[in-house]
Amino acid sequence: MAGTRGLVTQIQHFCIHDGPGIRSVVFLKGCTLRCAWCCNPENMLARQELGMNPGRCIGVNQCGRCLEICPEKALRLDATAGVDTKIHVDRERCSSCFSCVPVCPAKSFTQYGKWMSVEEVLDAIQKESVFYAESEGGVTLSGGECLMQADFSAELLAAARSMGFSTAIETAGNVPWESFEKVLPYTDVVMHDYKCLDDERHKKLTGAPVTPIIANFRKAYEKFPNVRFIARTPLIVGVNATVEHVKGVLDIIRNAPNVKDFELLPFHELGVSKWTYVGHAPRLPFHFEKPDTSLLTQLRTLIDNSFGRNSPER
Ligand code: SF4
Ligand code: SF4
Repeated sequence: MAGTRGLVTQIQHFCIHDGPGIRSVVFLKGCTLRCAWCCNPENMLARQELGMNPGRCIGVNQCGRCLEICPEKALRLDATAGVDTKIHVDRERCSSCFSCVPVCPAKSFTQYGKWMSVEEVLDAIQKESVFYAESEGGVTLSGGECLMQADFSAELLAAARSMGFSTAIETAGNVPWESFEKVLPYTDVVMHDYKCLDDERHKKLTGAPVTPIIANFRKAYEKFPNVRFIARTPLIVGVNATVEHVKGVLDIIRNAPNVKDFELLPFHELGVSKWTYVGHAPRLPFHFEKPDTSLLTQLRTLIDNSFGRNSPER
């Protein structure tokens, strides 16, 4: 397993919403789901991709450097943008050579995905880790789906743990059970999603049924009693912002003492524009909205009651 490399989109430091304490979050590229509301669509495909933000381009009359350098003739003027102004990427022709990235003075292009060794990732984390031990923080693997790169994730978390970092993952659970078995022995905290509990609706919204995901989570609770699990739902009106959904998740986790919390994450639209940057048509077949404050309070009260927040132990 030594020497495994992972496809990393980004490493963010000093994060406080991705596990206990202050953490570095490593975003791994590739996911097995296609959630219609995804706010990290640049992490969906398990290969390197070019991102292009046409809003940054200053126009070919002013510049045009990328047109000259592209070896595949994959860049051309966007006919829909009007007179001679903006650049369009032909995704069929683009070979992801990323020659256009450094030449653009407006930073219109982004390289999504870089192959990195465990040592390279740890080196990047260590430089920023001075506050982590004090806050009981550490390293969180996110994505995409970090369990798609199970060998790399296991090796990285094992090394991080041996250096004294707390280890955590964020997973949607739509992977073979063997991936859990490889990674969870090196994981302190597992944040895992319950997006919708009906197979047909889950498939329509994410591309896969939920039953195998629930089976994986139940098995993980049982096989890894010392791992701390945190259930989560990205809360969206019209999808899962209901008493029925919250009660359904509470029913699943109720008898698992190592599930320590159930967090509701109200939907935000911050990532929607990124769908077009990577050339995907936005998968937004429904009208998604945030839950209002009173509904959120009602749902959080249900969770608090289930976890007996006033008692010292669940
Ligand atoms: S990544 Fe390479 S092939 Fe793709 S548009 Fe840029 S220069 Fe052309
Ligand atoms: S290099 Fe950048 S600013 Fe110049 S034309 Fe290409 S995308 Fe536009």
